[in-house]
Amino acid sequence: MSRLLGDGHRRFLQTLMAVGITDEQEARALYQHCCDTHKMQCIPDKLDEFIEAINSRLQPMFMQIRKGMSEENGHQYYALVNMAETDITRMTSDYADNELELFRKTLDLIVSSENGSASSTDILNSTDTMTSKKLKKSETEHLLTRLVQDKWLCERRGEYTLSTRCIIEMEPYIRTMYQDQVKVCHICHNIAFQCQICENPSCGIKIHNPCVARYFKGRVEPRCPACDDFWPHEIPDRAHMTSPSSQQGSMNRTASTGITSSPTRRSEAARDSTRVLVGVCSCRK
Ligand SMILES: [Zn+2]
Ligand SMILES: [Zn+2]
Repeated sequence: MSRLLGDGHRRFLQTLMAVGITDEQEARALYQHCCDTHKMQCIPDKLDEFIEAINSRLQPMFMQIRKGMSEENGHQYYALVNMAETDITRMTSDYADNELELFRKTLDLIVSSENGSASSTDILNSTDTMTSKKLKKSETEHLLTRLVQDKWLCERRGEYTLSTRCIIEMEPYIRTMYQDQVKVCHICHNIAFQCQICENPSCGIKIHNPCVARYFKGRVEPRCPACDDFWPHEIPDRAHMTSPSSQQGSMNRTASTGITSSPTRRSEAARDSTRVLVGVCSCRK
């Protein structure tokens, strides 16, 4: 059922259209800003209902604001996604056929890897088996840069991973295409790429790194939550996980991490968030 949208809802949607994806803290700051600007009542824990109202109007256009977790830091993100296409043909307007073929090959490499990443060397080598017009080395490098800029991939020291936006948007496609390979996180039940794996061959569950940090926090001897074997991996420290913004391409102007518990720091971070998204918001242009 469609609900009535106010100017605040529209402003929120327009801003999200401009940035594509935003973390929960920034979304809350934007929600507050939109309500303040349009004299709407802002109820802090009603952000999801506010977004639901927008989604009810986006549905006929096969768009949706969807929530998902970052595999890097465990934070929640909101992304505006296209639901009209069920596979990567949704990228057709931005990429040529051979570029999409290489993106599919990159997906193959990432999904079949243990740690949810593909090296630039492996991606370059995979051009040898292309069936469409083969991409040259420089074209492949240029394409990878574009895929990072467009927030489909993230890159760190020559290793490529799927961005949070890509996972949120492509999850139905990936689950269908790679149903034998893809596993979900034992803790949060979301699709898992960058994660730790239980080394017991009869178990082999996956847990996202941030979920590992959360689950094993304070436990003296970490044990697999499924088979109770010793968990032999290093437990990541949540406090040292990547900030939400550093992996999100153009959003990396945001300095806020939301990890700090200091109220002063948190309000500074919230102010930064507001500044970044309000900078995008059309009311200041
Ligand atoms: Zn998880
Ligand atoms: Zn296990």
